[in-house]
Amino acid sequence: MQDERLFTPDFKTQPYWWDAARPGIGAPAQIPTKVDVCIIGGGFTGLSCALELARDGTSCAVLDSKRIGQGASSRNGGLVSGALKHAESSLVGHVGEERAMQLMREAAGTLQFLDDLITREGIECDFARVGRFSCAWSRKHYDSMARSAEKTAMLTGEPAYMVPQNHQRDEIGSDYFFGGQVSEGAATIHPGKYVAGLADAAQRAGAQLLGQTHMKGMTRTAQGWLVETDRGVIEAERVMLGTNGYTGRETPWFRRRLVPVASFLVATEELPEGLAQELVPNARGLADSRRVLNYFRLSPDHKRVLWGGRVGTHAMDARQSGLRLHKTMCRVWPQLKDVRISHSWNGNVAFTLDFIPHLGAHEGVHYALGCQGSGVAMQSWMGTQAARTMLRGNSQSAFAGLDFPAQPGYGGNPWFLPLILQWYRLRDQIDRRLQ
Ligand SMILES: Cc1cc2nc3c(=O)[nH]c(=O)nc-3n(C[C@H](O)[C@H](O)[C@H](O)COP(=O)(O)OP(=O)(O)OC[C@H]3O[C@@H](n4cnc5c(N)ncnc54)[C@H](O)[C@@H]3O)c2cc1C
Repeated sequence: MQDERLFTPDFKTQPYWWDAARPGIGAPAQIPTKVDVCIIGGGFTGLSCALELARDGTSCAVLDSKRIGQGASSRNGGLVSGALKHAESSLVGHVGEERAMQLMREAAGTLQFLDDLITREGIECDFARVGRFSCAWSRKHYDSMARSAEKTAMLTGEPAYMVPQNHQRDEIGSDYFFGGQVSEGAATIHPGKYVAGLADAAQRAGAQLLGQTHMKGMTRTAQGWLVETDRGVIEAERVMLGTNGYTGRETPWFRRRLVPVASFLVATEELPEGLAQELVPNARGLADSRRVLNYFRLSPDHKRVLWGGRVGTHAMDARQSGLRLHKTMCRVWPQLKDVRISHSWNGNVAFTLDFIPHLGAHEGVHYALGCQGSGVAMQSWMGTQAARTMLRGNSQSAFAGLDFPAQPGYGGNPWFLPLILQWYRLRDQIDRRLQ
């Protein structure tokens, strides 16, 4: 099939999720002049923070330069787990054994937190505890997963077990991997519906949501803050930053501590009868164990495949990224070589320099940032924790108060990412070949 024929006639360069839930909250008729808390960033972090504050009766406003929810929160793959993206050994190296265990426990608990939040607020977002199949890219990766299965089960309280290569067709219609690990506690979600539902819940509780309102700067005063926006100034006692992969030059201290990385996704057209069931028999979320990983799943109606990966480091033409993803997808599932792409899009995630999400306050600015591309449950939890910290005056989260490292010479422009991506790809190839 020729390249251009790989796209459907109604091909869209926007998230598949927006077909059912397009971010809708734009510019307000007018902005409030005074609130208790002004939150910058209208994704999972900012909205969950606003929801928690508003439920307490604290007045708050959430600003987003784009429509509310239009950042990564309505662009992601909707795979939900409570895993920390950090090898346990290096986590221990950073924070010591006891804190590492607290962080992993808290991260695992974010999944149940999300489940409870969705139930409490009655958010209809196709949340399904279908489990995750982590596909082993090499035999060595399989062995290392086998060593972690018991701990995954212990942390999540749900079964986690290995599926050897000769049985992997029970989990994925492909012979490409070397078996893998099932963790039954994990889930999938419709992120577009979730972020819209979270916005509704926050509004119902009394939060003000201001889309298309850009924070240009923040000035500290004796009473709190003056938040300057392109629609006027808001006076606030406190401010909270939930800008993650879109953190800009307005907040340079934070920008120096975050590495924005693009991630790319495609949705296929509807598959022929029976094919979805053959590809993902148990409808679990899937991801491989590469450093430059791919993540994939069925759409909530089980009619399409959604396939994501890091096929570049910066935003690129959606057809170009779509073709690259299609190629990787067909290596795993040659059955899809004639199946066309209906949607292709990207968004930014934020990595931190120690690969740990960070929660705290710097010079009076509260923040919850840096979930290394795994933020559906984690950032919802972190936003809530930021609110609780403001309400109680202290934090009970193990993520709070950790040293938030910067790298001398790095100001927020990740020019080195293409080199790192190449290096990681090379190491992935070495892992696969030398086994
Ligand atoms: C393609 C892709 C796939 C992903 N897949 C998964 C997945 O499968 N599972 C998972 O758990 N996570 C996934 N993630 C990560 C997850 O989406 C994010 O971690 C999460 O959405 C972050 O939420 P947030 O609220 O912190 O940030 P965002 O949702 O990105 O919101 C930040 C907002 O801040 C706004 N902003 C920035 N600066 C300003 C300013 N000066 N003034 C006003 N507003 C400002 C931006 O406009 C933006 O909307 C993926 C991310 C991407 C991009």
